[in-house]
Amino acid sequence: MKRLFAFLLACLTLTSPLFSSQAQDGVLTVDAEWSIVLSEESTPYEEFAAGKLSRELSALFGREVPVVYSANAKYIAVGSASRADVSRIADNGYRITAIGGNIHIGGTGVRGLSAAAYRFLEEFCGRKVYTSELTVFPQADCFSVPSDIDIVYEPFFEYTDTDWKSPWDPEYSLANGLNGDPHRTIDPQAGGAVKYIRGFCHTMALLCETEAHKDSDPEQLALHDGVRTTAQPCLTNPDVLKIAIGNVLENLRAEHDPNASLEIVSVTQNDNTEFCECERCRAFEAAHGGVHSATMLHFVNQIADAVKDAGYENTAVDTFAYMYTREAPTGIVPRDNVIIRFCTIEGCFRHALDDPSCERNAPLMKDLRDWAKICNRIYIWDYTTNYANTCLFFPNLAVIQHNIQTFYENNVRGVYEEGNYYMDRCDTEFGELRSYMISKCLQDPYCDLEREVDGFLEAYYGPAREFMKRILDMYESHPGAWSDGHLWIYDGAASCFSFTDEEIVAMDSLWNAAKEAGGEGYAGNIARSELSWRFWKSCLRAGEFSPANPRWRDENTRLFKDLKAFGVRTLSEWCDDDYLDCLCARYVPADEWEWHEPYEVRSWLSLISFALQELCDSVTSLLRR
Ligand SMILES: [Zn+2]
Ligand SMILES: [Zn+2]
Repeated sequence: MKRLFAFLLACLTLTSPLFSSQAQDGVLTVDAEWSIVLSEESTPYEEFAAGKLSRELSALFGREVPVVYSANAKYIAVGSASRADVSRIADNGYRITAIGGNIHIGGTGVRGLSAAAYRFLEEFCGRKVYTSELTVFPQADCFSVPSDIDIVYEPFFEYTDTDWKSPWDPEYSLANGLNGDPHRTIDPQAGGAVKYIRGFCHTMALLCETEAHKDSDPEQLALHDGVRTTAQPCLTNPDVLKIAIGNVLENLRAEHDPNASLEIVSVTQNDNTEFCECERCRAFEAAHGGVHSATMLHFVNQIADAVKDAGYENTAVDTFAYMYTREAPTGIVPRDNVIIRFCTIEGCFRHALDDPSCERNAPLMKDLRDWAKICNRIYIWDYTTNYANTCLFFPNLAVIQHNIQTFYENNVRGVYEEGNYYMDRCDTEFGELRSYMISKCLQDPYCDLEREVDGFLEAYYGPAREFMKRILDMYESHPGAWSDGHLWIYDGAASCFSFTDEEIVAMDSLWNAAKEAGGEGYAGNIARSELSWRFWKSCLRAGEFSPANPRWRDENTRLFKDLKAFGVRTLSEWCDDDYLDCLCARYVPADEWEWHEPYEVRSWLSLISFALQELCDSVTSLLRR
């Protein structure tokens, strides 16, 4: 359900067509007398943008703002009907400008115009899509646009993707500039999504048919630790190359869309480290920097040539710089239609990627810079949640913007920020805020993020926003004691952040103050975010979960029931659905819930131990009396 927030918009009160059609004090006043103008021979992209503007402005004013084909009053002209000069604007960019007291919107590529329509609604009508269920759209009789307006936008990245919950929603994605497949379907009229043809990652063994050739021609398989394995192919075997090219071209024949702005074929190693060590592969790698990426890039370059020769001009071939292929080779460079997808999985996610004092990130950044020297089409696969303890708050908010700027400044042209893609089954912290921050930074790495965050907190937490901000500051400023301040995506509670007993009391006070300020209207959102705080305390037996509190087991039970009530059905990337029964949750710290299986042999010991604990407590309380 979308909530409409009415608030006063600074706007002129003149509503007659005569007055509204004139620039007053440097502003154009747009009201229900305006129309949207299209040319008679409009394209589907123009119709989409004009239709979106017409629908939203009609809803805003409560009166129809029609799409017309000849202008006789004040108007917003879209696409070829406009006089906005977009001849020098990069693909999928746009221009919003005022000429002669009217507004002209032009776009390039397949998604320039739809992006312009959403930008216009956001910038001048205050329409913000904060989550898939929360759109803020102030009601007004009119709104102002500077009469000298001239906004030019060119995309910072050709591919933008994150897969937290709301980003799967096409409307959220269009409003916030996400375009990557396979995590959303976008109307082709709005530009469609950038599609990965038949496979997003780890496609190598399938494309090379290693399984099918394991007996007939084992030399096609990787020789690893002296054994031929179907886990990876031998990348210097000419027959393997032929098979891979055949499969890539067949996939393109089946699924290629010539109208798409960009399509990608993924030729990426399988998720293991069983690279080929045959004599030929080793010799090639030794001659190109002594790294495994050399054979990979050589192989992928040849596939990219075949794709280009077959006439697929809008298609790029993607490969990984991941784990054993992370280091860049020497003496070989990627073709123009090759994408190097660089993965940050070994990184620290609390410190900035380019922070030289972070020993985990320094080698990663060196490798990224080495790739940037030979490649101007790098994509990033980055990580933004805790996959082992997903209920915990993941304190990476402070580096999101800086890291995306670092990507942009190092030849990165596409970013996938992998998130909590199972958030519909595990939504306990600040996932909606994080995904909004990521989306806005991918749309513009240099945006005023603080203003965006303030807007989000206001819409999502209402009067509790200041307390929520202080809570976020507390998280971000207290690095984990067990991890020397670094942060990994599989860390336990003590490594994510640390608080003294006094600080825990202070945090509890902030949460209580937030709940009081938020009132009933925001209680659900605040309580959901607080689950992550309670979860952390339970993991460490801190606060009300401390054994010093005679009711700590009741607190565990309450937390367990609240998680279930908020639809939390999984606690990590691996666990599925019902992770535990209430009895065990009562006695076991939260980070062990998933692994504590009450119906296994171990459970008998557990049950005896639980019974003893209860007995012991009963005796203690009797003695106290
Ligand atoms: Zn080999
Ligand atoms: Zn670090």
